[in-house]
Amino acid sequence: MFCLLCNNEEKLYDGLCKSCYLKEFELVNVPEYATFTVCSHCGATLKHDKWIESAYYDDEIINDAIQKDITINEKLENVEITTEILTNRGTMYDCIIHAYGQVLEESIEKDYPIEVKVVKGVCPDCSKFHSGYYEAVIQLRADDRKLEDKEIQEADEFISSEIQRLCKTNKLAYVTERIVLKEGIDYQVGSHNAAHKIAENMQKQFGGIITESRKIVGHDKSKSRDLYRSWISVRLPSFHKDDFIEYKNNVLRIEKIGSHKFVGLNLEKYESESISWKEYDKIVKVGNTDDVKATTVTNVTPTEIQVLDPDTYMTVDLNKKDTMKNINIGQEINVIKLKNKIYIIM
Ligand SMILES: [Zn+2]
Ligand SMILES: [Zn+2]
Repeated sequence: MFCLLCNNEEKLYDGLCKSCYLKEFELVNVPEYATFTVCSHCGATLKHDKWIESAYYDDEIINDAIQKDITINEKLENVEITTEILTNRGTMYDCIIHAYGQVLEESIEKDYPIEVKVVKGVCPDCSKFHSGYYEAVIQLRADDRKLEDKEIQEADEFISSEIQRLCKTNKLAYVTERIVLKEGIDYQVGSHNAAHKIAENMQKQFGGIITESRKIVGHDKSKSRDLYRSWISVRLPSFHKDDFIEYKNNVLRIEKIGSHKFVGLNLEKYESESISWKEYDKIVKVGNTDDVKATTVTNVTPTEIQVLDPDTYMTVDLNKKDTMKNINIGQEINVIKLKNKIYIIM
C-alpha cells in the first residue's frame, strides 16, 4: 500500500504514511469564530451558565470562550491548549490557539488563529429590572390621617438614597414604580431583602410601626419553588411632636420621636415617659397644639392652682407641681381640656 500523498510504501494511517499523517493532523477543530456574552446593561459576563459580575478578566474570558467553542481531535492525547490575545478591535479579538499533544506516540504542536466576538445579552437581573419585576412593595402610610407632603418628600429622598447605597451590592435593589394612592405611596422594589432593610431604616428615621405580609404570586419551575411578593407597610404614627395622646388612662404630650421608643410628658405626673413602639396600638391621639388655650390663674395655694375653665369660665382647682412654683395669681397660662379634664401646659 502506498501513501496517498507521497507514494511512500509503509504502514498507513487513514491512507497516509506516518510523516504525512502527522503533517495533515489537525489537533483541534476551530470554528470561524468563538463568542462570549456580555450583559449590555451591567457588563456582567456569562461564564458557562453563570453570570459573573467582576474579577473576571479579558484573557480569562477569551480563554473560556475559545475552550468552549473548539473541538479537540479525539485521537490526540495529553492535550494542552493555551490561548493568547493578539489584538482587540472593539467587540472583536484576534487570538491564537497554541495546541500541544501526542498522536501515534509522537509529540505534535500547532497554532491556530481564531476570532472571538462579543455577543450582547441581558443578564437575568437586568432583565428583571427591565421587565418591571419586583419582589416587594413598601407601603408608606400614616395612621389615622393623611400623609403630609413634607413626609412624602422626606420618604422619597430617604428611599432614593437607600437604593443608591444598596444597589452597589444588590442588583435587584431598585424601585420599578412609585404609585400615588389615596391612602399613601407604594414603592415597588425589585429585591425583598432591600425593601426589608429600607423599611426598617425608615422606621428608625421616622418612627411608626412596620407590618409585613406575603403572598404566593407564581412558581419558578427551574428552581421548583414558589415565588412570593411581600407587602411591607411602614405606618407613620398618627401623632407628631407636641401632640397629645392618651396611653393607659394618662394624657401625655409627645416630646420626642425615636426609633425604638417615643417620649411623652405625662401631664398627670409631669414626668417624661418612654413608650415602646410595640405599645403603639394602645395609644389614641387626643389633641394637638390647636387645642391649647390661654386662661387666667384665679388663685394659688401651696398645693393647688385655680384657673378658669376656658369653655365654661367656672373655676377649677388643679394640683400644683414643682415646675409650677412660679405661677402667680392673675397670670395668663396655657391649658388643654381633654376628656373634661384640664391640664396645665408649661
Ligand atoms: Zn506520505
Ligand atoms: Zn446585567
